[in-house]
Amino acid sequence: MRDHVSYRHPNLDGGSSLDRVLEILKQYWGYETYLPQQREAIACGVAGRDSLVVLPTGGGKSLCFQVPAMRLPGMAIVVSPLLSLMKDQVDALTENGIAAARIDSTQTPDERDDVLASIRRQELKIVYVSPERLMMNGFADFLKQHPISMIAIDEAHCVSMWGHDFRPEYRRLGQLKTTFPDTAIHAYTATATQHVRDDIVEQLHLVNPKVLVGSFDRPNLIYSVERRTEVLRQVREVLDRHKGESSIVYCIRRADVDDLVDQLRDVGYRVAGYHAGLLDRERKAAQNAFIRDEVDIIVATVAFGMGINKPNVRAVIHAGMPKSLEHYQQESGRAGRDGLDAECVLLYGGNDYGTWKYIIEQSESEQAVRIALQKLGDMSSYASGVICRHRALVEYFGQTLEADNCKACDVCFGDLELAEDALVVSQKILSCVFRLDQRFGADYTANILLGSKEQRILQAGHNDLSTYGLLSEFTKKRVRDWIEQLVGQGYLVKGGEYNVLSISERGWKALRGEETPRLLKPAERSRKHTVLEDSWEGVDRGLFDTLRVLRRKHATARNVPAYIVFGDACLRDMARRRPSSIEGFLEVSGVGQAKARQYGEEFVATIAEYCRTHALDRDIDPSVKPVPKPARCKKRTRATLDLSRQLAFGRFEKGESIIAVSDAIEKKPEVAIKYLLDYIAQEGLTTPEPWVDLGTFDRIADVAKIKGTARIMAILKEVSDVADYDQVKISIECLKNL
Ligand code: ADP
Repeated sequence: MRDHVSYRHPNLDGGSSLDRVLEILKQYWGYETYLPQQREAIACGVAGRDSLVVLPTGGGKSLCFQVPAMRLPGMAIVVSPLLSLMKDQVDALTENGIAAARIDSTQTPDERDDVLASIRRQELKIVYVSPERLMMNGFADFLKQHPISMIAIDEAHCVSMWGHDFRPEYRRLGQLKTTFPDTAIHAYTATATQHVRDDIVEQLHLVNPKVLVGSFDRPNLIYSVERRTEVLRQVREVLDRHKGESSIVYCIRRADVDDLVDQLRDVGYRVAGYHAGLLDRERKAAQNAFIRDEVDIIVATVAFGMGINKPNVRAVIHAGMPKSLEHYQQESGRAGRDGLDAECVLLYGGNDYGTWKYIIEQSESEQAVRIALQKLGDMSSYASGVICRHRALVEYFGQTLEADNCKACDVCFGDLELAEDALVVSQKILSCVFRLDQRFGADYTANILLGSKEQRILQAGHNDLSTYGLLSEFTKKRVRDWIEQLVGQGYLVKGGEYNVLSISERGWKALRGEETPRLLKPAERSRKHTVLEDSWEGVDRGLFDTLRVLRRKHATARNVPAYIVFGDACLRDMARRRPSSIEGFLEVSGVGQAKARQYGEEFVATIAEYCRTHALDRDIDPSVKPVPKPARCKKRTRATLDLSRQLAFGRFEKGESIIAVSDAIEKKPEVAIKYLLDYIAQEGLTTPEPWVDLGTFDRIADVAKIKGTARIMAILKEVSDVADYDQVKISIECLKNL
C-alpha cells in the first residue's frame, strides 16, 4: 500500500512533458532558451526519472530542478548543505514570484511554524531543507502527508567520501529512497570525477538514473598565466580592466592577504580581506560587503568561496599559485557564473612551489604528501605550460576540447611569444642536467648554464663542464623559467626530497632532435589583454551604470544582494534593448513576469529619461540590428563572432537544425537562434521552414495580423499550444520580409 501522497508523472517519452516548460522558463525567469543539458535535465525532472546532473559552476543547475518543480503538481524538496545558499536561492525564487521557503536552524520557532503551516496548506512549490533537518525524526513523516513532486539534492558530491567536501550528514540521505519510494530523486553537482559520480548514484540508491554530464569547459572564462614580477602592478592592471565591478584576488598566505589589502586600499580601491585568521564576524562582514557590492574586491586565502553564489565576479586573480588544479578550477570558476565574460589570471613565481611543498609536508601523512605533491606538480606544469589553458584544464578532468583554438586564453590569443631557438636552448639545458649526473635541482643547473662563479660550483669543479656558461647571455629568471617549462611539458622530471632534475624519455627524444619543446620568451612588459566581447555588444555603458544605481537602491531597500534584483547579464540586455514599454521590458533576458510587475515601470521610465537626454533610440532588437563592437574587445569579437556567424549562415543555408548549428559553432542555442534571425533578415526569407513547420507558421501569421508583429508575447499567448517563443520569433522575422 502506498503510504504517502505522490504525483504520477507524465511519461518522459510521451513528448508532451516539456510542452509548458519553455513558457514557465519565460514566465518566471525571463529566459527563452536552455543552457546545455538543461533541457534533458528538466525533462528527467518532469518525467519523474531519477537523475544525476553534473554541470560546471554557472551551468544553470538550479533551474534544472526549479523549473520542473513549477511544472509538476505538489511541492519539491531541495536539500542544500549551506544556509547562505539556501537563503539566496529562496530570496531569488521569491523575487521571481515563486512560492518558496526554507527550513533551517537559524529560524525562530515562529518562523518555522509559519513554513510548516504553509506546507500543510499546500501553498509552497519549493522548500529548501538542510540534510540534518530532513532526516530528523518525524520530519520526513510530516512531509509524506503532502504531495511531494520531487526531491532535489544540491551539491550532491557531499554524499561521497571521495569528494573534497564530504558531509557525514549527507550520508543519511541514502534512506530517502526507502522513505519516499515513489518520488524521484535528482542529484546535482559540479564535481568532475567518475569515482564521486558513481558513489553518488550508489549512496542515494538512485533507480535507473539518467546521468547527464556537461562539458567542464567554461568558454566565457578567459584564462591567462603570467610570471609574477611586480605583484601590485600586475594585480592592479587586471582590476583596472574591471573598474566598479567585482573581483576576487587569492593569495597563498594570510600575511600576503593583509599586505595586499593595505596596498590596494592605500591607492583607493574598495577592498576587503578574508582569511581564517580573522574573527568570525570580521569574515562575515567582509563576505557580506562583497556580496552586496559594498566593496569591489575581496583579497583572500582559499578559505574564501564556499557558498559564494555571486554570479557577477568579473575577475579572479591568483597572486600565488594554488596547490592543485582542482583548487584552481574551483577558485577561478567563481568568475563569470552569469555566463558573461570574465578573466582568470594566474600570477606565479618560482617560490610558490617551494612554499606549498613546505606547507604540504608540515601538515599531512606520508601518502597524502605524495598525492599532494603530485597534484602540486601538475599545477606547476599548467602554470609554466604553453598549451591552451582551456584544453589543459578539461583534459586534466578527463574530457576533451573539440576546438583547436579556444579563443579565450593567452596561448590561443598568441599573447605568448615563443622562443625561436627552443630546440637548441632545450638541448643545452638537458645536456647540462645530464652532465650533472641528474643529481641537482633547477636552481643549481641554471647557475651552471649561466656560468656562475658561486663558491660551491667552483669547489665541485662544475665550471669545467662543457655546458658551463652555455646560456650566459640570458637572465637567471629566464633560464629558470625555461627549466620549469621543460618540466611542465614532461621533458624533465623533478624528483626526490630536493627536486633533483632528471631526463625523461621525452627529454631524450628532444636531445636527439626528434621533438621540439615549446619555450616561452616572456613579453617584457604587460601583454596585450583581450577581454570582454559579445556580452557588451550594443550595450550603452552609461545606461548600464544608471540602471546599476537603480538596482542597488532596490536591493538595499529589500535587504538582498543586487544580483537577486537583476543579474548583470539582464541589466546589460536592458541597456542594449532599451525597452519603452512593459511588454518590451518582458523581452529582456532574465525579466520574468513578477519582476516586470514589480520593477518594470520604474526601470522603463529611467531608460526613457536616459535615452531622451542622450538621444538614443529605444526598442532595439539586438538580433536584427547588430551594433558595432567596442574597440576594446576587437580581437575576441572578430575571432569569434564573424567566423561563427559565417559558419552558422552556411549551415542554415543547408537547412540544418538550430541544435546542430549551435553544436557546430560551439555556442549556446540562444546564440544560434540569434544568428538564424540575422540570417533570415539578411537573406529576406519569407518562410521559416525547416525551423518552423508551415502549419504553425500560418497560425502565427494569422495572430500577428491582428496583434502586430511587435507583440511577441501576446502572439505567443495565442499560439502556445503549437509553438514556443523561438518559433514565434523566427516566424515573425520571416513575416517582416513579406
Ligand atoms: P550553477 O548552480 O550550476 O552554478 P546557477 O543555477 O547558479 O548555476 O546558474 C548560473 C547563472 O545562469 C544564473 O545567473 C542563472 O540565472 C543563469 N541561467 C540559468 N539558466 C539559464 C538559461 N536557460 N538562460 C539564461 N541564463 C540562465
